Amino acid sequence: MLIEHKVLSSLREDGPRPGNALLQSLPVHELAVLMPLLERVPLAPRRVLQHAGLPIEHLFFVESGLVSVLAKVDGRSGAEVLLIGHDGAVGATVMLGGDTSDLTYFVQIGGSALRLSVDDLNRVAPEVPTLSQALKGYLHLCLMQSSQSAACSLRHAFVPRLARWLLDARDRSGLDRLPITQDLLARSLGVHRPTVSCAVKDFESAGVCAKDRGVVHIVDRLKLERVACHCYRFLRAQSDKWERSKVKRKIVIAMSSMLAALEAELLAS
Ligand SMILES: [Zn+2]
Repeated sequence: MLIEHKVLSSLREDGPRPGNALLQSLPVHELAVLMPLLERVPLAPRRVLQHAGLPIEHLFFVESGLVSVLAKVDGRSGAEVLLIGHDGAVGATVMLGGDTSDLTYFVQIGGSALRLSVDDLNRVAPEVPTLSQALKGYLHLCLMQSSQSAACSLRHAFVPRLARWLLDARDRSGLDRLPITQDLLARSLGVHRPTVSCAVKDFESAGVCAKDRGVVHIVDRLKLERVACHCYRFLRAQSDKWERSKVKRKIVIAMSSMLAALEAELLAS
């Protein structure tokens, strides 16, 4: 316990503190292995972090901002299938053995991320088993969420889908004021720009949202939730369940470490 306390103190004083939920869920001794290998990098809007068809060389643990995951349609990267915010990581599919990306990862809202090279991850993998477990759990969540998103696109009308997207983007970025243009919204949701303009105007009239120079401001979150399709609540429940499982795992690891230290002390006395 004393050693863990010292490591935690040194991380607080010296190194960068992770703003990413996956990293925050790790036990202190795994974080101590990873922190010297992580480099904080800016995420400039419209930067492509990973191109489809190219090898995955880095994982990006998003701390702030929003990354859009795009699938190829007709040979071009066009359709958004997932959003990644401070709860996720770009490049996590390397954990499943895929060394080349089939998807493109595009910065929708600028922020920052902690970058870890795949070479470093492979080198320290035996020392960070909880990270491996957390990334695989995250990929399971991504699969569930992208499947729901596909079903939503097939069955639900545009306005409830737009409300769901805005709420999802808000939850993952932590921003009520989303710096996103209507062109990008149209691209994300696979519709023409005038369709977005009409819906945003209706939201403004209803006091749900306001727009101002490339920013969509969520004014009344509860009203927006009432407009959104049921997919939002379903996706939110999945995310909450996953967050609770991470907390439980961290408590179990901390208790195991505490019991092991106590046992060692008893044997030594
Ligand atoms: Zn839906």
